[in-house]
Amino acid sequence: MTIIFEKSSGRGKRDEIARAALRLLPGAALRRRGRGLELRVRRPEKLADAAPALENLPGVEKVSFSECELSPLACAGGDRRFSSPLDFRRGPVLIAGPCAVEDEPSYLRAAAGLKEAGAHALRAAIFKPRSSPYAFQGIGWPGLRIIAKAKKLTGLPLVTEATDTRQVARLAEVCDVLQIGARSMRCYELLKEAAGSGRAVLLKRGMRATLREWLLSAEYLLSHGAEKLILCERGDSPSSGGGPLMDMGLIRKARKITGLPVIADPSHASGDRRLAAELARLALRAGADGLMMEASPDPLSAKVDGRQTVNVETFRAIAAAACARSRR
Ligand code: PEP
Ligand code: MN
Repeated sequence: MTIIFEKSSGRGKRDEIARAALRLLPGAALRRRGRGLELRVRRPEKLADAAPALENLPGVEKVSFSECELSPLACAGGDRRFSSPLDFRRGPVLIAGPCAVEDEPSYLRAAAGLKEAGAHALRAAIFKPRSSPYAFQGIGWPGLRIIAKAKKLTGLPLVTEATDTRQVARLAEVCDVLQIGARSMRCYELLKEAAGSGRAVLLKRGMRATLREWLLSAEYLLSHGAEKLILCERGDSPSSGGGPLMDMGLIRKARKITGLPVIADPSHASGDRRLAAELARLALRAGADGLMMEASPDPLSAKVDGRQTVNVETFRAIAAAACARSRR
């Protein structure tokens, strides 16, 4: 953490601020650097509460942090790729399925087709967070039986979005990975509940969220007990203008500083199936540990996000290219 003094602050004021910093953070190592005072502490989680008090002192212009000071658990680094329920140790993991589960026959057909085409896990969304309250919100709890059946038939693990704390325990009985969607990245109660579920958690980057905000949400999960965490870059909403905005640099950086598996969702990043396949390849080239793709046998009849859903044959080609990079 660095405290930047106001230009006009004199030596006496700066010494006073340094003493206040030591009162708030006993044992901190201090180093003066021009207009800044660097603080190194053994327990960085104390900084979040000390910062507002320091910022409030007369003579302080601002207090700045590195991502890793704010999120020490998320930034622990090392290699935190795991091998179950998804196996990140043997190459890119491919999670595929329609945007939403719509009915049993179409979902079971999609699940079987995608498994045969190379999927390692199924998207199994029964609750859909939609921008419009009038749009299809997912089939809800009746879908649990359908996704359980797909899991039994294919043997593939299920990745399911929880949109509310009240869904977590029941979803966790059947699903292998709980997904926190982009809109929910900042729903801290949901993060805590998912963290305590005993299931792996997939955390999407919120639209326009910075690396710092994404890692802070990861920190919520890790500090509340999540043991297996996957980060997913899904880009910023193309509907906000400017076309697909998946940040490959962010994928690289998040992988490097967290050591966690970081996957990409080219479907939501592109909003267009013609671009999704190309973004998928670029993400894998950037080092992504896997993909989450909207794919189904019949994208043209999808109720949700059909435009960005690839068909099984396109998915098969993406899977073959991904497989060429792996040891599967
Ligand atoms: C999804 O993956 O189903 C989804 C809603 O994506 P996002 O949260 O990235 O918008
Ligand atoms: Mn979707």
